Amino acid sequence: MSVSELKAAFPSHDTPGYVGFANLPNQVHRKSVKKGFEFTLMVVGESGLGKSTLINSLFLTDLYPDRLVPSAAEKIAKKTMQLDASTVEIEERGVKLRLTVVDTPGFGDAIDNGGSFLEINRYIDEQYERYLRDESGLNRKNIIDNRVHCCFFFISPYGHGLRPLDIEVMKQLSDKVNIVPVIAKSDCLSRDEVNRLKGIILKEIKENGIKIYSLPDCDSDEDEDFKQQVDDLRQSMPFAVVGANAMVEVGGKKIRGRQYPWGVVEVENPKHCDFVKLRTMLITHMQDLQEVTHDVHYENYRSHRLASKPGGFVPPTPVRKNTADEKDKQLQEKELELKRMQEMVAAMQQQIKQQSQTSLASLATSDH
Ligand code: GDP
Repeated sequence: MSVSELKAAFPSHDTPGYVGFANLPNQVHRKSVKKGFEFTLMVVGESGLGKSTLINSLFLTDLYPDRLVPSAAEKIAKKTMQLDASTVEIEERGVKLRLTVVDTPGFGDAIDNGGSFLEINRYIDEQYERYLRDESGLNRKNIIDNRVHCCFFFISPYGHGLRPLDIEVMKQLSDKVNIVPVIAKSDCLSRDEVNRLKGIILKEIKENGIKIYSLPDCDSDEDEDFKQQVDDLRQSMPFAVVGANAMVEVGGKKIRGRQYPWGVVEVENPKHCDFVKLRTMLITHMQDLQEVTHDVHYENYRSHRLASKPGGFVPPTPVRKNTADEKDKQLQEKELELKRMQEMVAAMQQQIKQQSQTSLASLATSDH
């Protein structure tokens, strides 16, 4: 994507109501444009860190209109973390984006959080398994890609870096998904505190051998401005974000922000937080996130899966039924039935032929 395209995709925060994915066609093949983009984003982090608010701010849509936040007592009663996938279709200048956001309500809420990781892991594997099955099925052309392409990992602004649970979960997810760490509610921190926390998080990520999503190197013939932009994004990780559902008035303009007694934190103001950088990274690298998911993480899953089956590929057991499978099955049954009927007709024709030959022969002998 060139700088001018990038600028068009991300107008300044004077242009509200615009996400910027209409420029995605520049990244991908035309065929995908017609079909629309499928992208799945997982958000991991303890409840109350502002995950839903950020997602709604990012995609300018209310993804959770009927959301009920459970009380502490309800959370204890439920004990386990549950995953919640919501899909929205957003259209911008004729370009469709089928966005699935997988939330992890209850993450880190339990006393023993071992189950949190297992649930997340199971969900990711289930999507890979489904894709693997669909890929080896009859309806290969119309596979719906529900694999998790990116995982926003929310880090609390109140701690002194990563918590043991964050380290454990990030480590385990490293080889499965593209992790993008974000510092939640960064308006709680001063600029120095944000920089210090970023430093600590990066150090801990390195020390613990956690692999996070790294932006690909630019081509050497790429625009200098673009290279600079990618470099800035790289330097800003982990992104310190602020989310807001409310629109407030600043200088006669309605903007997305958080009104405090001392002033307004503007979500889309790069001086206030990294929200725009996070959005730019997500939109301009959507295709790369999909490619890394397919070429690296899915390929890892696939080779492990195939290696675990002695004697080569054995189609995996279906994890969940979907309508495409049922249609394939019905089609196969119909084909078998048709084949049986054709065989019956052929057998009958053969019988008639034999009968007419015998009667002709007996007629000939009676004539003599
Ligand atoms: P979730 O449980 O992680 O999905 O968190 P929510 O999005 O429901 O947010 C929990 C609370 O935090 C709500 O009262 C939000 O208004 C508030 N909140 C969300 N984002 C931010 C933020 O960036 N800064 C601050 N200070 N509060 C936020």
